[in-house]
Formats: sequence, structure tokens, C-alpha cells
Amino acid sequence: MYIMEKAPAKINLSLDVLHKRKDGFHEVEMVMTTIDLADRIELTSLKKNKIVLEAESRYVPNDERNLAYLAAKKMKKHYSITGGVHIKLTKHVPVAAGLAGGSSDAAAVLRGMARLFDLDTTPGELAEIGAEIGSDVSFCVHGGTALATGRGEKIEELPAPPPCWVVLAKPPIGVSTKTIYQALDVKEAGHPDTSSMVEALRTGDYEKMCQSVGNTLEGVTVRLYPEVAQLKEHMLQAGADTSLMSGSGPTVFSLVEPDVKARRICNHLKGFCDEVYMVRVLGTKETLD
Ligand code: ATP
Repeated sequence: MYIMEKAPAKINLSLDVLHKRKDGFHEVEMVMTTIDLADRIELTSLKKNKIVLEAESRYVPNDERNLAYLAAKKMKKHYSITGGVHIKLTKHVPVAAGLAGGSSDAAAVLRGMARLFDLDTTPGELAEIGAEIGSDVSFCVHGGTALATGRGEKIEELPAPPPCWVVLAKPPIGVSTKTIYQALDVKEAGHPDTSSMVEALRTGDYEKMCQSVGNTLEGVTVRLYPEVAQLKEHMLQAGADTSLMSGSGPTVFSLVEPDVKARRICNHLKGFCDEVYMVRVLGTKETLD
């Protein structure tokens, strides 16, 4: 049997780091939303008890280090699946970019294997397995728009943002999330107003949403990679309503309403950056097809 799942990227409309916990993880408050830029996961069941990963990208590993592989391994163990699975992963989401590409691939494998093997499970159960793989995987299992707390695994669904375009620009560098967290001084860093962002989404207030974006990690990444601040500046100069770094970076996004304006920002950015995308937000109720 064969099935296909999309693995959409996310952006952080806000990302606050509250403190470092005794278990080594950081306590966070993040408002995240999925966007229409996705990897493709194809799963085929195998009679033999093995996991085969075919990742058509030189930027990601083809073995257990790949989060898609790890997700399949966890599913086999958790649900005592005796058959095997062939995973074909086609990457479209930039790697190590702050867009949770790997986490979303893992989440798509969890959802996909539940379908492929007709398992009696719930999104909540899959999200719990996902949390063992990485802090963003639980959100990616649910998708849509949500407030994620704890170390990112506690998910509260939120309404999708008011309709707008998201213009993304990724400078030609990969950023390690671990490095950025290690360099963060929580007391010195700026903190976004998460409740204001939540309120903006609940009331569908586009202007308030644009005013409420913020990312505690941005200052750290900008110190290491000044091109991140430059891209933000270019976006605002070209007419973006707001711009922010996603996750630990280095991808920067801007929000804008009319498509002509979004196209203008894209054209402006292409002079400074090779990887530019113009996408929509995927609403909670929208399907990914
Ligand atoms: P986040 O926003 O959750 O911090 P990210 O977008 O910054 O994630 P990823 O693209 O998920 O980062 O990749 C981070 C690291 O994970 C890379 O170094 C990569 O080698 C590894 N990795 C493992 N599996 C995958 C995968 N399926 N796709 C992308 N990266 C993967």
C-alpha cells in the first residue's frame, strides 16, 4: 500500500523563551502557523521488517539521524508493527532554516504510518510520540495555528491569521538551534507580548498581529549573522507590514496583504538573496491539498 503526506513548514509569529529548566530544555511560549511550503513524504508498506529511507537531498542524512526515519522507528516500536516501510522524502523546505522542516517530516511520517497501517490512534497520541523526537513535532502533528507552551509540546489551537501573504527570505547559511539557545541570555533578551498576539488572532485583527510579532532568539542570531537584520530592513523598505526571523533563523519572513505588494517585496529581495518564497498561511480549517 502507498500513501502521500505533505509536511508543511511553520513560521513563528512570536517566540518567547521564559527560562532554562532543570531538565536542560527551555520553557517557551510560541505562536506558530503552518505555511504553504511543504516537503513531500511518500510511504510504501514493505513485507520485510525494515525501514528504508530515500531522501533526495544532499542536505539531510539518509539514516537514523533523519527525523523521518526516527519517527518510523518510534511508530514501529510503539504500535508493534511487524511489517516495514519505505519512506521517500522530497525536500522543498530549506534545511536548518528555522522553519521546522525536519520536525514536519517526522510529523508527516507519524500521521502517514497511522494511515498506512490503519492504526487505532489519535492526533494527541501521535503528538506525544512526536514530543520524544523534538520539541516542534507535536505542533507539526496538529498543524494549523497554535500556541505552544512547555518546551513546545503543549498545544492550544488558535484561529488562523487574517488572510495575508508571507514572503520568506533565507540567507545562504544554516543555523544550529542548539548554538543559538546556548548563546542566549534570557534576562538580557527582548521578550514579545504573547498574549497580545493571541488576542490579535482571536479577534482577527491584522494590524495588531503585525504589531505583536517578536522573537527572543532574533537578537542572538543577528549578532552572529548580521545579514538577518539586513534582510528584515530590506523587507520593511520594500513595503512589508512587519518582518521577523522565524525560529532560531536564519529565515526572515514578512507579512503583507495585497499580492502586488508581496510580489514587489520578492522582486526587491531577489537582488540580495537567492532563496525567496511567496506563500500563504494554511488556516486550521483549510486542507493541504
Ligand atoms: P526548527 O525550526 O524546528 O529549529 P530548523 O528548520 O531550524 O528546525 P531542520 O530543517 O529541521 O531545522 O534541520 C535541523 C537539522 O536536523 C539539520 O542539521 C539536519 O541535518 C537535521 N535533519 C534530520 N532530519 C531532517 C529532515 N528530515 N529534514 C531536515 N533536516 C533534518
